Amino acid sequence: MSLSQLARSISESPTLKLNETAARLREKGEPVIHLGGGEPKSKAPIDAILNCTALLNTAEVRYSPADGIPALKKAIIRYTEEHYGRLVAPENVIASSGAKQSIMVALHAIIDPKDEVIFPAPYWVSYPEMVKLAGGIPVAVTALDGGFQPTVQEIADVIGSYTKAIILNSPNNPSGTMYSRDFVAEIVQICEKRNIWLIMDDTYNRLVFDGRAPVNCYDFTDQDIESSKLIVVNCVSKMYAMTGFRVGWAVAGRELVRVMTNIQSQETSGPATPSQWAAVGALNGIQSSIDSLRMTLENNRNVMCARLQAIPGVQVTKPAGTFYCFPDFSAYEKSSLKLSNLLLEKVRVVVVPGKDFGMEGRVRMSYCGTIREIREGLERVQWAIDPNSPNELYLADRKLVRDWI
Ligand code: PMP
Repeated sequence: MSLSQLARSISESPTLKLNETAARLREKGEPVIHLGGGEPKSKAPIDAILNCTALLNTAEVRYSPADGIPALKKAIIRYTEEHYGRLVAPENVIASSGAKQSIMVALHAIIDPKDEVIFPAPYWVSYPEMVKLAGGIPVAVTALDGGFQPTVQEIADVIGSYTKAIILNSPNNPSGTMYSRDFVAEIVQICEKRNIWLIMDDTYNRLVFDGRAPVNCYDFTDQDIESSKLIVVNCVSKMYAMTGFRVGWAVAGRELVRVMTNIQSQETSGPATPSQWAAVGALNGIQSSIDSLRMTLENNRNVMCARLQAIPGVQVTKPAGTFYCFPDFSAYEKSSLKLSNLLLEKVRVVVVPGKDFGMEGRVRMSYCGTIREIREGLERVQWAIDPNSPNELYLADRKLVRDWI
């Protein structure tokens, strides 16, 4: 089969692939515990469902403008004013089919062949592939100290004449790290000085713990929205548990938004209208679901971290937000792929190899499921790797005997 070079250079999304594997095994009746997931298990807000079904009940579901329906743009403008302190115009807003599409059309709008896009490691699995899809070259920056946040200097050192953009995702998928205010401030200033776009992927910034407040990138610029280099991306996917609706958005200067809209109009048109109405409901409705999700996740994080710390040799940094943590298992297995395969094969626990996020020896574990899943999943993980744990384990009614260590 003759396929394009580009097609051959793009790998499958490892997280979506794991979802499929887990679903397939479950269908066969296997007692799978999915600690690899990327979506909250709570329900979508009732206002989202009411708004969406109201449109469906009319049985008139039409095309949307390519950059989103006016009601959604209005809701996004209000959200931006409330959470970022910026009053923007409808022309500064584009709604897309998920944050993923907003980032993708932004990259298509700014990248020329061989332009470089910088992001800190560990990074969301899709950034390198999305940059490549847009014809650019991904440049991941790993902190020399082995931590989750490179220094500003380490990022500045890789900026060159081909650098077109930096992507920051805070709190971060997969580490749960929140970059410090100083760090974000300095990156904003570097981008302005060097004329580099800064994509702030704020997908998780409402899901932060221990009384932290999200960092607002606009705090660090004096420039108005039109001359700013900031492209701020959000979505309803995580904060409202609405991953399947596929609604995200970007806020940026109107010239960039105009070009992004042209690209989106040719690629997919606007997002599905029932989903947009659902997003309007979520954004304008009662907001208590975000707080309750955040509190549940904070509690789940505590349970997961405490359980991980009880496994001798496992290192874990307490996440400041998201619903992921990124523990270091290198004391047991340096290859994250080998470890994830072992856990899936032997004890039916799904985790995502750290390699896919640009860091070896670690795996991403999600705490967006139930406490029971977290406890039982980690009990199985410890049993699979720790030679000091008892030699036998029951998975449902199946007795397992550990014969691999
Ligand atoms: N950015 C990050 C960091 C994510 O983790 C995700 C989803 N996993 C997205 C963007 C995409 O969000 P959406 O589902 O709204 O496309």
